[in-house]
Amino acid sequence: MTTAAERAALAAATTVHLPSDLGYDDARTPWNLAVDQRPAAVAEPADAAEVAAVVRTARAAGLRVAPQSTGHSAAALAAHGLDDVLLLRLHRLRGVEVDPVRRVARVLGGTPAIDVVEAAAAHGLAVLHGSAPDVGFVGLALAGGLFLYGRKRGLTTNSVVAVELVTADGEIVRASATEHRDLFWAVRGGGGSFGVVTALEVSLFPLPDVHAGLMIWDASRARDVLRTWARWAPDAPDEITTTVRLLRVPPIPDVPDVLRGRDVVLLDGAVLDSDERAAELLAPLRALEPELDTFARVPAAAVARLHLDPEGPSPSVSASGSLAALPEAAVDALLAAWDREPGLLAAELRQLGGALGRVVEGAGALSHLPGQFLLFTVGIAPSHDDAVRLRAQAEGLVTAMAPWLTGRQYLGFAESAVDARVGYDADAWALLSAVRAAADPDRLFAANHPVR
Ligand SMILES: Cc1cc2nc3c(=O)[nH]c(=O)nc-3n(C[C@H](O)[C@H](O)[C@H](O)COP(=O)(O)OP(=O)(O)OC[C@H]3O[C@@H](n4cnc5c(N)ncnc54)[C@H](O)[C@@H]3O)c2cc1C
Repeated sequence: MTTAAERAALAAATTVHLPSDLGYDDARTPWNLAVDQRPAAVAEPADAAEVAAVVRTARAAGLRVAPQSTGHSAAALAAHGLDDVLLLRLHRLRGVEVDPVRRVARVLGGTPAIDVVEAAAAHGLAVLHGSAPDVGFVGLALAGGLFLYGRKRGLTTNSVVAVELVTADGEIVRASATEHRDLFWAVRGGGGSFGVVTALEVSLFPLPDVHAGLMIWDASRARDVLRTWARWAPDAPDEITTTVRLLRVPPIPDVPDVLRGRDVVLLDGAVLDSDERAAELLAPLRALEPELDTFARVPAAAVARLHLDPEGPSPSVSASGSLAALPEAAVDALLAAWDREPGLLAAELRQLGGALGRVVEGAGALSHLPGQFLLFTVGIAPSHDDAVRLRAQAEGLVTAMAPWLTGRQYLGFAESAVDARVGYDADAWALLSAVRAAADPDRLFAANHPVR
């Protein structure tokens, strides 16, 4: 890939692993173990200055640069080819500082979301995190970011107040509403095509505790539960956000007894209001008589683990889509597809609408998500053959929902390579392309969903 002089320059800039090095295999392994990413080199910078040095050196050596915090979205990145790419693993950039007076957290580029949740909680504050504690907070925020506070408070990306990033020239700049405004607009929802985010500032909000929990039904109740939930969800008040999953729980020790080895329907949700109001809002779901109902007031930080997402590396394949509506025929189609694809672990529906569906003044490239529901389905694939088989099953399930798909996608949930235009409206895409052409004309940066 490079000359001896270029290799020496990279090694002088930061910790680097080349394919011939012993440490290469460990360094290149992403969170998603189903992905065999083989870049030209892997760098593990310790701070923003090292990131800047390695960006300049990689450019001089003719390599492109792919920032990667955890590799939750490694499948989409690797699908574009990594032969000429230096993978910038950012896990050493880990840290959170909370300013409780301004209610802002400064989060380093490779920090897992749970660190931000816990640092904020120490001050009675909360952040708009996702369902997985170990997703990179910056990766989540650049993609959009939604979970159980979403219908009240919108996408995570709208709560970003500034980013510090290393540009394609190897400069460290700060982008905000008043500085490098084009870049600030583009990174909020536009992803990692514009630079390496070494730190980000995000707004927090007061929330020491919250009414949240799970409801569980046996899979034999799926049709009734899904039909009722799908009728209720679009008009529910913004204060409540829920997700519903069809789940085939493996018989493994790490899961709660009530779930182990069973086929279930699992709902999780949060209500940003009083306990009395929560009881009112949850009544139509309780009328479905769940066998387990854990909804109660809990410390807000507990919501970060409510979804039971796996922590630590895992081999997974998935497919996703955005649904305009979920009438009874769509529920029936989903259940039929779920029965046809027995290898899948979960088929999940996230409730959109509320603040997640509204245009936000002053937002970036992705202000909101169209559609009423996001569909995400996933399987665990220990081997390459499993991955091929399960990818076909996951795509088959989403294809079965074709009559109700919006045609748009939430790129945060797109774990295979897609044409990134499906993530935006036409005006936003045109502007994203223009900002990319100005900020990175040589397309130095490689991203999971590149803006071309
Ligand atoms: C189990 C699981 C649960 C999830 N739950 C949710 C959820 O609840 N809500 C939600 O909205 N999304 C969710 N996602 C999607 C997730 O937010 C995206 O995959 C996100 O891109 C992951 O970021 P990462 O940094 O962890 O992954 P990575 O694969 O490391 O990064 C993905 C892309 O983000 C960019 N990027 C990451 N860090 C930087 C940086 N510091 N500077 C520049 N670019 C960067 C790069 O372009 C990179 O290719 C989930 C994904 C998984 C696998």
